[in-house]
Amino acid sequence: MDKDKIKQGVTLLLEGIGEDIDREGLIDTPDRIARMYEEIFAGLDQTAAEPLSKVFTAQNTDMIVEKDITFYSMCEHHLLPFYGKAHIAYIPDGKVAGLSKLARTVEVFARRPQLQERMTVQIAEAIMEQLNAKGSMVILEAEHMCMTMRGIKKPGSKTVTLASKGVFAENEELRRNFISIAGVN
Ligand code: ZN
Repeated sequence: MDKDKIKQGVTLLLEGIGEDIDREGLIDTPDRIARMYEEIFAGLDQTAAEPLSKVFTAQNTDMIVEKDITFYSMCEHHLLPFYGKAHIAYIPDGKVAGLSKLARTVEVFARRPQLQERMTVQIAEAIMEQLNAKGSMVILEAEHMCMTMRGIKKPGSKTVTLASKGVFAENEELRRNFISIAGVN
């Protein structure tokens, strides 16, 4: 990540909106944002292969669910946050991931300029590929600041996205089971 470019960009942006970039409150803002972006866009340098590489052998062939994983991401259209909960289900085929690794996988895809729809599919596909799962399903429910603090201003409204792969794509009952476990309404 090029921190100098970020700093220049933020300075231009502040000048563009007519701010005095030399006033006390703003003097360190470009540098502060550059450091913050290193953290909130850290997923750009990561792949899901890393958290999901450590697997355990298990005979379990039932659905494994990890729900209410809190995430924060940045909408790539407005560079404003969207945040909420991720719910993940998969049916293993001999290989299971440590439960904290599913949360780490969500983070890899959340920490980049993102679209909720794409992130949902990326998580579901990563689980299929890395774990050779029989099926995976991901539900994200999130509030988008670009919808709630501007434009149509609907505070509290949530966008829900779903992605199903493998047996979840073929079996409606499985999908319904997971949706009811996840408690999405
Ligand atoms: Zn947006």
